[in-house]
Amino acid sequence: MQINLISDTVTKPTAGMLDAMMSATVGDDVFKEDPTVNALEEKVAHLFGMEAALFFPSGTMTNQTAIKLHTQPAEQLICDKYAHIYNYEGGGVSFNSGVSCRLIDGNRGTMTAAQVVSAINPPDFYHSPLTSLVCVENTANKGGGTCWDFNELEKIGEVCKQHKLGYHLDGARLWNAMVEKKENPLQYGQLFDTVSVCLSKGLGCPVGSLLLGTKEHMEQAIRIRKLFGGGMRQSGFLAAAAIYALDHHIDRLAEDHKRAKEIGEVLVARPFIKKVEPIETNIVIFEIDESYMTSMDFVEKLKEKDILIIGMGQGKLRMVTHLDYTQAMHEQLLSQLVSF
Ligand SMILES: *Cc1c(COP(=O)(O)O)cnc(C)c1O
Repeated sequence: MQINLISDTVTKPTAGMLDAMMSATVGDDVFKEDPTVNALEEKVAHLFGMEAALFFPSGTMTNQTAIKLHTQPAEQLICDKYAHIYNYEGGGVSFNSGVSCRLIDGNRGTMTAAQVVSAINPPDFYHSPLTSLVCVENTANKGGGTCWDFNELEKIGEVCKQHKLGYHLDGARLWNAMVEKKENPLQYGQLFDTVSVCLSKGLGCPVGSLLLGTKEHMEQAIRIRKLFGGGMRQSGFLAAAAIYALDHHIDRLAEDHKRAKEIGEVLVARPFIKKVEPIETNIVIFEIDESYMTSMDFVEKLKEKDILIIGMGQGKLRMVTHLDYTQAMHEQLLSQLVSF
């Protein structure tokens, strides 16, 4: 039995999801004639109380589209130094939008409103790039699945209003944050100009993300999606998976969080562990005491036992729990960890 904890993207569609996909009614979504895609977009827009939504092939494309929507070339956005848009989107911020990133030295992927204020360039100082957008990420991936304090997000929202900045949420794992903090999508819909959510992470879909915002934003977004090559045809098969996941796979994220915390408890008690970062959702980030073994040795030793995990650089290792990580796998992993 292979145990794959590399990411929550390694899941495969469940039997129920495959059934929903196979019985989907489809059409050509490039002509906006796929009823299942239209239904998904309406469902998620309604869930967040936002005017409109647009289905995308990837989370990267939703974020890149949002950045393009809110900025002009040579402008600057503000984000945390751990942000996915800065670290893991191939430099698309500069390539696709011609925009630079002003990085905040935040706390595990989160930042404060005061830090945002101090990063805004004065708009009349024409020597500096014009600040036009603030991007936040919830949960913060590289921060270890960190959940934001909603009050701080509101304060940053106020700063954005005062300074007329766009406010985008990279909510690839927002489902995890909302389940963990018992929050409501309407809160997020009210606060942000645009929100991106992933369906292929915790929710277990094979493909798909959505961008949410005003009707006007989505009319522009469909043009940018075209420009980025992201129009899909009978994508209702994928949208059907998403609708199924929204109905069946959100509440169960609490199980992933519980297992991640249990992994953390076992790890922290092992002598070869230097540090386990706080575990808030489904991501476990930890470091090996290299006087016992190197991090890469540990990854290799697990691999010999058919357990797959990933390095995050700077000696940090990561495990992510997900839909296909069963209780049997969990028990096996915990017993293997105590055998080291
Ligand atoms: C995974 C992820 C994305 C999008 O990734 P894709 O692989 O392009 O779908 C965006 N933001 C965060 C925080 C992520 O973890």
